[in-house]
Amino acid sequence: MAQNGIAENGSHDQTHTQSQRYLSTRGDDAGLSFEEVVLKGLATDGGLYIPEQVPRASAWESWKDLSYSELAFEIFSLYISPSEIPSADLKDIINRSYSTFRSNDVTPLIHLQENQYLLELFHGPTFAFKDVALQFLGNLFEYFLVRKNKGKTGRDRHHLTVVGATSGDTGSAAIYGLRGKQDVSVFIMYPKGRVSPIQELQMTTVPDKNVHNLAITGTFDDCQDILKSILGDADANKSLNLGAVNSINWARILAQIVYYFHSYFSLVKSQADFKLGDRLRFVVPSGNFGDILAGYFAMRMGLPVEKLVIATNENDILDRFWKSGKYEKKKAEGVAAAGGFAVDGSLAQADGVKETLSPAMDILVSSNFERLLWFLAYEFAETAKMDDVWNKKQAGQEVTKWLKELKTTGAFGPVYQDVLKYAKRDFESERVDDTETIDTIQTLYRKVGYILDPHTAVGVAATLRSVERTGPEIHHISLSTAHPAKFSGAVDMALRGEEGFDFEKKVLPAEFVGLEKKEMRVTDVDNDWQKVRDLVKAQVEQELSEA
Ligand SMILES: *Cc1c(COP(=O)(O)O)cnc(C)c1O
Repeated sequence: MAQNGIAENGSHDQTHTQSQRYLSTRGDDAGLSFEEVVLKGLATDGGLYIPEQVPRASAWESWKDLSYSELAFEIFSLYISPSEIPSADLKDIINRSYSTFRSNDVTPLIHLQENQYLLELFHGPTFAFKDVALQFLGNLFEYFLVRKNKGKTGRDRHHLTVVGATSGDTGSAAIYGLRGKQDVSVFIMYPKGRVSPIQELQMTTVPDKNVHNLAITGTFDDCQDILKSILGDADANKSLNLGAVNSINWARILAQIVYYFHSYFSLVKSQADFKLGDRLRFVVPSGNFGDILAGYFAMRMGLPVEKLVIATNENDILDRFWKSGKYEKKKAEGVAAAGGFAVDGSLAQADGVKETLSPAMDILVSSNFERLLWFLAYEFAETAKMDDVWNKKQAGQEVTKWLKELKTTGAFGPVYQDVLKYAKRDFESERVDDTETIDTIQTLYRKVGYILDPHTAVGVAATLRSVERTGPEIHHISLSTAHPAKFSGAVDMALRGEEGFDFEKKVLPAEFVGLEKKEMRVTDVDNDWQKVRDLVKAQVEQELSEA
């Protein structure tokens, strides 16, 4: 038992006072500090970083009355050693990160109907849930850089180049988290013509000199591939200190754990029939699997979660995995099964991504799923009753094998029965198509007058199906990932002509009015990772010479 009554998970009698270390899901990179994993993003072996031990929060019930920031401090302290970031500094970073939110509660819980609730995650600067993590990550980057650069001038200063790929929301949230920060340049790639008009305006109208938008002729997955190529490129790594803001960055997952606890406590405090210790369900509209993965960590830390329900749109690789145990990129229609893949394993046809009304979830492969795979493989290894070092090694090897297969053949699996069994113990999944998304926005508006954005509607549709299985007694919290004004097309399609509906008056926040009159800053670039890399290098060189 360590200080604050917090014990570590697993067979080791490690204590919280010992520093938390991180390892890669592919097993070749271990023993890293929090600062190292935050600044690096992707592991050297191509894997993603996870904590060596998931801390068990045995004192979690005593956190019930804490404010959002106080709660964040308790949770982050289990993952970041005070020897790395002293408590007073961590508190300051947290306070600054959440003071930019428009709600005192940061992430308020709203009653929808019966035992169904909405966790509104969109009260940050860009009106999407990604602000919760990216406001924090921006301040973390700044903190580490200020510390590294103390007393240094000119070319001696450590400069961070952040490259990100976005289907819309990550980009604007990253830009708002990093704009104007010293010693940081940020480059955001988005698929040209495939983000909503508001999202594009939010990104491109930010005037700060350190912000660069790149409109790529391709899809979001192309942008993600370019990012991976650049992060893994020797030349780019030699000339730049690259940082990642995509949800592969561990700090994003960490930040998101907080609202699972916070909303649980909000429910306890507002509902007499829901008591500390009662189990509930969270339903999460999912794409890259980052948001729901934070829920999985909360569960492993000890929060009484009965199930995490994954809600996907028609890009349903996750849903298909839970049904079949096979993780498989979908072949684009009309592309023959054999020969459909190019030599490097990527789809020959532009992609198999379907454009839906919930574009932030239009992905072919969920990058954070790799982190869950590691934990499933680890649990499976544990059944062999060897030591923990062996278990971790096995997990790393298994994940490496799966991911290699995915890269070369476009699929892996079916995985072992037991691995799928662990996945099903903690998760359920639902796939929701565009028609049901529109219907759900309409139904909820008519029934309770609430306007859902299309991503949140995917989650609410999944909630309704989940309730059919559990019965109405089980409490459900659906994560609301965006403000409806960000996806006006879908909302308008669903609610045009409804009594009392007026987009400008009822939905549009004042912050969005007049954005289209501002100057847009964006460069068009071909779908070619080397061109992107060279552009980034040249631009950073120019910024450094002007500094
Ligand atoms: C990013 C995003 C999602 C998906 O979250 P993941 O962490 O990628 O699963 C869902 N809804 C909205 C509005 C988003 O911006």
